[in-house]
Order: sequence, then structure tokens, then C-alpha cells
Amino acid sequence: MDLNLRGISGFEFLEHAAVNKVELPPAIIHTGRALTDQETLRLREFTDHIILKGARSPERLQEEVALFLQEVQTRPPVVPRAAPLPNPAIHADPVFREKTILIVDDDMRNIFALSKALRVRGLQVIMAQDGRRAIAQLEANPGIHLVIMDVMMPQMDGYTAMQTIRARPEWQTLPILALTAKAMIGEREKCLQAGASDYLSKPVDLDRLISMMRHWLTQLP
Ligand SMILES: [Mg+2]
Repeated sequence: MDLNLRGISGFEFLEHAAVNKVELPPAIIHTGRALTDQETLRLREFTDHIILKGARSPERLQEEVALFLQEVQTRPPVVPRAAPLPNPAIHADPVFREKTILIVDDDMRNIFALSKALRVRGLQVIMAQDGRRAIAQLEANPGIHLVIMDVMMPQMDGYTAMQTIRARPEWQTLPILALTAKAMIGEREKCLQAGASDYLSKPVDLDRLISMMRHWLTQLP
């Protein structure tokens, strides 16, 4: 899909499908537009595959399509057509079904790697690059079930963001898992004091993160 389309844009098309729970096949965005970080984040909520048109893009497009077709072939037919999952859940976990999480990190590569790994497990992923944007996302998406919060970020860091979140009555019980770069002494306490539900050090051990998420998502009221 290109982004500049007549009628409605590619963005609007994807958002419209998500809002109306239309189950789309995997989407590859193939665009000639230079994307801003914000636009890339917005697109990444719908797909992990964005290809900018350029010298190598025909080959990349071919590779991505081949990868998708391979995935479709090897995927066991466990997801019934009636289940509206906007993203194809390859390793869907029942606890993660119809759950939406917010990943907050200033490192885009980290956001993308995490969101990709979590989406194949059936989660809906929303993203933000700093604390201020995280709060804006929480306000715009009242259905968020859990937050993964990086601590070191520009604009508003994770500590301030967590304190701001906890100051709001509606977000008192929202699970927040804090991510810090190093397992420093006192860091855990600092995170918990700021309002984190739990703590994990970077680089993220995906299995630990998943089991932590399962724990907190099963505690939801
Ligand atoms: Mg950071």
C-alpha cells in the first residue's frame, strides 16, 4: 500500500479498518514519502513492514512479500475467521487477546523490536517516544491495559511520566513495567517509588517480560 492515495490516505485507510475491526491481511507500506518519526510510529501500530521507495526497494519489496507468504503457509490454521484480530497473531496467547499495551521508549529500534515480538502474540501495541507523548496516548486511548515504560528519555523521563500517571485517579491500577538501561542499586526502589508496578533491566529479556506481562494482565480488575 502506498500512502498518498486519492480519496483517503493510506493512514486513514488503516485507521478506519482498525477502528471498525476489519480484519486485514498483512500490510506492507511501500511509500516514496519521507516519514516523520511520528508518522513511522503511527504506521507501526498497523504493520512492521515499511519500505521506502528507492534504488533497492523492488528487491526489498519482493523479500518482504516472500516472507509473508512463507509465514502464511507455515502458520497453523488456529485463528478462526470470526475472531477479529487486526494483526495476524501467529503465536497468540489467550491472556493477550484483545489487550492493548503502550510501549514508551525514545529508542525507536527498541520500540519496533518489542512491538513486533509482542504483536505476534496477539497484543495490540500503541507507541510513544517520551513521557509527554505517553500521557497523550493514554488520554487518547482509554482502553490501554498495560504500559512498558523506558526510564531514560528526553522531554519527560520515565520517573516523571510514572508519577504523572499515578497522580491521575483513573490510572491508579494501570500496570506499568519500567525498563532501565542498567540494573543499578536503588534503581528498582526509585522505579517503584515513582509508581512502577514492576521493573526490568535492559536489554530486555523477552521471556521475562512476557511472563511479567502475563502476571499483570491476569490481575486486571
Ligand atoms: Mg531511553
